[in-house]
Amino acid sequence: MAELQQRMVSFIVDECVRHASTDVGISIGAAVNGHTGLVLSSAPLWGPGTWELPLTQKLCEALPAVRYSVVNDVSAQALSLLDETASSDSMAAALTVSSGIAYRTIDLASGHIPLDPDHGVQGEIGHLPSAFPWRGTYLSAVCECGVQDHVSAFSSGRAIEQLLPRLAGPDWNIAAFGEACRSGDALALELLDAFTLPLSTVLLYQATLNPQVRHTVLLGGVVDELGEIYRDSVLKNLARLGLYEVTSRDSGYFDRRIKIGNGDGLEALKGAGLYARRNGRAIQ
Ligand SMILES: [Zn+2]
Repeated sequence: MAELQQRMVSFIVDECVRHASTDVGISIGAAVNGHTGLVLSSAPLWGPGTWELPLTQKLCEALPAVRYSVVNDVSAQALSLLDETASSDSMAAALTVSSGIAYRTIDLASGHIPLDPDHGVQGEIGHLPSAFPWRGTYLSAVCECGVQDHVSAFSSGRAIEQLLPRLAGPDWNIAAFGEACRSGDALALELLDAFTLPLSTVLLYQATLNPQVRHTVLLGGVVDELGEIYRDSVLKNLARLGLYEVTSRDSGYFDRRIKIGNGDGLEALKGAGLYARRNGRAIQ
């Protein structure tokens, strides 16, 4: 693991030298302590377990002439919403569904991302306990972090890849699933609703606990692949679950609040650039 992390450091240093960079924003798909900049762990990058990496420190040691700004990728995506969200009187959230899952809220007026004051993290919803009902029974699956039945074990891109043959037969892979969803195949859409249910449930709880989050943007490879079909499935689950004393009076509540990104996949890079310009220190 140390070698894999060292290779990442060497790659960044080589790129900085190649481009003669002096100020670099880095978006990383890992949990980061936003107060210290310490990279804590990343199940998609390094598998289960805690593999701490003082990335900024290692980079400074290797190439001190450059100013590094390390930011968690979902925080970077949330920062990119500062430019894209018209209203600035509330909070927005970025929810990414790709190989892993994460969520981050941001205050649109100040650009502040609220963090746990002690541990410097926020919104690691992929590793919340969850459940996966399927045709009258509950299925179990192990999350990439090594724990059973987390949201990521049912709703992430990798989970979908692993669950498809288990639920629908050996011929079902992610490409066939995407195609079947787009052509309106009943089984594919039933599967999609099952995959989005754990996430929809988290969004329901979030709407209950923090109603100030008025804009939630769905991002990441799984969302990009399915586009509005994915959003429709989330909205369908939320309509069925219902937000107490809200959706019965306001049926368009979640439709107004939950949108998909523009699909260009550049949000994290854009956010890392904004972050480097604004702060120049590591946040989660
Ligand atoms: Zn997990």
